[in-house]
Amino acid sequence: MHVKHLGVLTSGGDAPGMNAAIRAAIRTANFEGIRTSFIYRGYQGLIDGDIEQVGPRAVANIIQRGGTILRTARCDAFLTPDGRAAAASRLDEHGIDAVLVIGGDGSLKGASLLHHEQGVRVIGLPGTIDNDIYGTDVSIGFNTAMNVAVDAIDRLRDTAASHDRIFLVEVMGRNSGHIALNVGVAVGAEAILIPEQRPSVEEVAEALVAAAERGKQSSIVVVAEGAFPGGSLELQRQIMDLAHQEVRTSILGHIQRGGSPTTRDRVLASRLGFAAVHHLQEGADDVMVGVDRRGNTLVPLTDLSQRHKDIDWKLLRIARVLAT
Ligand code: ADP
Repeated sequence: MHVKHLGVLTSGGDAPGMNAAIRAAIRTANFEGIRTSFIYRGYQGLIDGDIEQVGPRAVANIIQRGGTILRTARCDAFLTPDGRAAAASRLDEHGIDAVLVIGGDGSLKGASLLHHEQGVRVIGLPGTIDNDIYGTDVSIGFNTAMNVAVDAIDRLRDTAASHDRIFLVEVMGRNSGHIALNVGVAVGAEAILIPEQRPSVEEVAEALVAAAERGKQSSIVVVAEGAFPGGSLELQRQIMDLAHQEVRTSILGHIQRGGSPTTRDRVLASRLGFAAVHHLQEGADDVMVGVDRRGNTLVPLTDLSQRHKDIDWKLLRIARVLAT
């Protein structure tokens, strides 16, 4: 059955490129004769009925903007069946017969429950800087976040090299090391700590001492935010104790989530927004549209909670060799 009225929402953490995806979906849908509505503030706005019907001009001048013009929210009510029933009622009231959810793992799981419990037609796009969503090689925002982190660490490297110092840099990624691994390789880090393979503090300290003995005057250690249970400042203290060298810590934090999306994220988001509408028209439901080397992937939303996206182990081995 063809979609007549598409609602678009963003949920969970914002990611650069979400606006490009919103734009692509709204423009494509209108081109195909589908009515479109903005649903503001994620599932919270959906439950509250914060919904506005819009046309293609509503997404003018947003492709280059970070964040999400629809705003985003975490919504506890949506974690309950009653909350999801209320969400489905709002959709009915507005005559919306399909919803595009752009967000992370949690948001897409929520979309699947909305489908299974309430029969709502849903399609998802992976929008998170963490790139931790199973079934897609990349998610919207990942490329921009990596570039922001690399740019920041290049600056720290200048100081580290001038003062013969060790810098510990914490990057985002929640419980996954995709950002840290790629950024670590891109900045030529002496050590990379990721939750998927956490070396002991002793190993890290030994590696730094060995690097100094090999003639390295400065070292950069890239740490994923979930890699060390006690946090980066505790890690710094322990490394200083063991390596007997001064260590500075820099936590990049939310800076990585903001800013104008890179060309790559804009193109990815544009492709995915376009594909989402076309897949809906072809009957897709309860799936996420992602990408791999061959093109678009269609992943059942229920698979997302059951399968884990592995990191690129080969890249980790490469990083070790290149740090010598
Ligand atoms: P992300 O989508 O970036 O992973 P969250 O995990 O915080 O971010 O999820 C965003 C919102 O999606 C939550 O506030 C909640 O409303 C909804 N959500 C998350 N997980 C679930 C779940 N298991 N069931 C239903 N809704 C969920």
